[in-house]
Amino acid sequence: MRSTEDVIVIGAGLSGLYAASLLEAAGAKVVVVEGARRIGGRAHTLDDLPGHPDAGGIQVGSNYTRLITIAQRLGVALKPGGEFDRSALHVVRGETVAEADWPTSPANQLVGRERQLSPMALGLVLGTRLGSLPDTAAWMTEAGRQFDIPYGAALKAAGASDEAIRLISANMGSGDINAVSALNSVRSAAFFQSAGPGATLSVIDGGSQRLPEAMAAALKSEIRLGQLVTGIDESAKQVRIDLANGSSIIARQAICTIPFSALRPIGLSGPSADAMEGVIAALPYAHASFAYLSASEPFWNHDGLPRMIWSDDPLIGRVFVLGDDPAMLKVWLSGPDADAIDRLPPADAGAAIIARIEAARPSAKGKLRLERMFSWQRDPLARGVFYYLGAGQWPLLARAVTAAGQRLHFAGDHLAQRSSGLEGALESGERAATIAIAKL
Ligand SMILES: Cc1cc2nc3c(=O)[nH]c(=O)nc-3n(C[C@H](O)[C@H](O)[C@H](O)COP(=O)(O)OP(=O)(O)OC[C@H]3O[C@@H](n4cnc5c(N)ncnc54)[C@H](O)[C@@H]3O)c2cc1C
Repeated sequence: MRSTEDVIVIGAGLSGLYAASLLEAAGAKVVVVEGARRIGGRAHTLDDLPGHPDAGGIQVGSNYTRLITIAQRLGVALKPGGEFDRSALHVVRGETVAEADWPTSPANQLVGRERQLSPMALGLVLGTRLGSLPDTAAWMTEAGRQFDIPYGAALKAAGASDEAIRLISANMGSGDINAVSALNSVRSAAFFQSAGPGATLSVIDGGSQRLPEAMAAALKSEIRLGQLVTGIDESAKQVRIDLANGSSIIARQAICTIPFSALRPIGLSGPSADAMEGVIAALPYAHASFAYLSASEPFWNHDGLPRMIWSDDPLIGRVFVLGDDPAMLKVWLSGPDADAIDRLPPADAGAAIIARIEAARPSAKGKLRLERMFSWQRDPLARGVFYYLGAGQWPLLARAVTAAGQRLHFAGDHLAQRSSGLEGALESGERAATIAIAKL
């Protein structure tokens, strides 16, 4: 099947749907093609699990201006929430340590004043020693380049102990802290601070996927689900999108929102893809796997310990309470720990995780049941949870986020200039749509 459109948008995540809505409003004939049979991409709500937990983006900052405006327009409710617990039960070096005992625990091998900091606060607190950016866009300039050095080495130079660096890397989505650019931390802090003092967090009522679903429902354009793109060819007059079912779609322009991790195996040709080749090939994506556990009762409310667990144990990682009714936990394993758990059959993975949680927190004994294992890197449409800047990659990304394609444009949270996450996805979709509209 071949058809001719003004613009093909690849991906029905937030960036693609927002781009499609802006193009449609500008009068373009648009078609959205999505590989999954579901709308939303990494805004992904697991509606078949108790409590409808999110597997993807959750927190909405008060500086998410596009998201908040779109949600209001479409009648999608936001509600307060998304805050991480401020205290956690520590399971470090095999020892379970209550918050109050942490500073004097033998498991605490931090040095000097660091010993007072909880492991989960280390990254934020020590990160402030790296320096700061004047605003959210400054990372793209020379002001950002100076922070593009290995994160571990930057922390060490700022006085962090080896144990602090080990604990910060324990729950990072990449294997080697020195392969990660310190610019990620400084850039996140700038975006976080742009929300201003006293900023609050919200979540999307009913789950994050409700927003892209409402955006899709409001589109007049056709959305073709279950259409896996296998090739993109841009020529002087058109863009051809090849699909796994053997058909092609032709358009005058295309916007591709596929995360670079999932885009790498796809055949790309043409000048706009050539210009992005280096960054598409190199931008790393963090790994994360989750175990969703139901509990026969919310034991965390009556064992006198914090609800959340923070651990350097590869089978515990971070354990978040999702709710008391239904009583649900989410175990978040990162980087190599996520890869290791992915290699086990799900039932064995769940049993190993539950056994380790029970050993660390006896009140959990006999009360947990695996509902689902979930791996972002195993999803061929994502191949990772979110991107990060590798050390030394500043020139690649700073160039990519300001590039303009000829007939093929790239979008997605990885190409946001000022914001990140859910808001970054919308920002990038807006930019790509603006470029495409100018060429209609
Ligand atoms: C676990 C997790 C937690 C997060 N937490 C937060 C948070 O708290 N706050 C926040 O702001 N952000 C958070 N994020 C990030 C946020 O979810 C993403 O930034 C945002 O959803 C990305 O939107 P996008 O449109 O750029 O990409 P995606 O949503 O990934 O959209 C890309 C689309 O392309 C499709 N696709 C891929 N390959 C193909 C192909 N070959 N053919 C056709 N279609 C294809 C995909 O199926 C997908 O629908 C989190 C993400 C994850 C995974």
